[in-house]
Amino acid sequence: MKVGFIGLGAMGRHMARNLQESGNNLTVHDLRREAATHILESGAEWADTPKEVAQKSEVIFTSLPGPIDVESVVLGPEGIAEGATKGQIYLDLSTNSPTVTRRLHQEMADRGVAMLDVPVSGGVAGAEEGTLSMLVGGDQALYHQMLPLLLQLGDKPFYCGPAGAGQVCKLVNNYISLSIQPLLAEAFTIGVKAGVDPATIFEAVSRSTGNTPSMQRRYPSGLFKGNFAPGFTVDLGRKDLGLALDLAKDFNVPVQYGPISWEEYSETSKRGRGLLDTGAVALIQEERAGVEIRADLESE
Ligand code: NAD
Repeated sequence: MKVGFIGLGAMGRHMARNLQESGNNLTVHDLRREAATHILESGAEWADTPKEVAQKSEVIFTSLPGPIDVESVVLGPEGIAEGATKGQIYLDLSTNSPTVTRRLHQEMADRGVAMLDVPVSGGVAGAEEGTLSMLVGGDQALYHQMLPLLLQLGDKPFYCGPAGAGQVCKLVNNYISLSIQPLLAEAFTIGVKAGVDPATIFEAVSRSTGNTPSMQRRYPSGLFKGNFAPGFTVDLGRKDLGLALDLAKDFNVPVQYGPISWEEYSETSKRGRGLLDTGAVALIQEERAGVEIRADLESE
């Protein structure tokens, strides 16, 4: 299949490679041409604009930071919409605003282009290993038609409902997984100050009801080692919490915990750590508590 891929960052470069290794012919684009070096070396074609990607592809994927970037790549000058023609399919893998997503579904439908929102979960490791979960919104028949292609990216596709439903589910998921991180840091600083070492706390919680993938994924090889190489950046986490809080506002849902989490991500970013992995939100709590959560525990 002729597949277009725009956005070859932490997630996109692995997803594009998986599509390529599954035998598709890829045309790729990114603001930074150097992001495409590896995939071009293994046979992908470069396009100078999203419009050119659309002209050369049957199915077009985007994996971009957020709503502004997706909107400009789809509807902006030299965008996908200018190059796309009737019968093509557009799949957005970015975590995006449900409102913007629904508008894009409509704009594309007006041009005869079918769209699915396909935000993913499972981190860079999931993208690399092809074990992502994919939360899909849009026409259900199109979802079934696209399943063979989606299964090249991840092994946990899930149909969430009509246009935008994938994004709603993704924002709910990230509201949980991102908000847990400041809480984890707080809990660990209590335990460490109370005299138990972080590795012991980790082992105890791992066997108990407080266990969470956020801790398993981010503590042994991340916080314990002071390693905050992204991963999923603080700035992207802040964006996702902001999108979820916008959604809460749109639907008059009173919220208490999310805004506190959002403040932690914002403050972390203000302190120059926006491009570090989201695990770096723990640093603020370490500074406040006057204790470091470091341990020698082999990552899984
Ligand atoms: P990233 O910042 O590493 O990659 C984004 C890429 O898009 C970059 O290469 C950038 O140069 C490119 N780009 C930005 N604007 C562009 C434009 N106008 N035209 C062309 N290229 C452009 O981000 P990422 O971590 O790969 O995340 C991508 C999306 O996936 C985000 O929406 C993020 O929230 C979501 N996501 C990320 C993770 C993760 O663990 N990193 C996990 C799940 C979902």
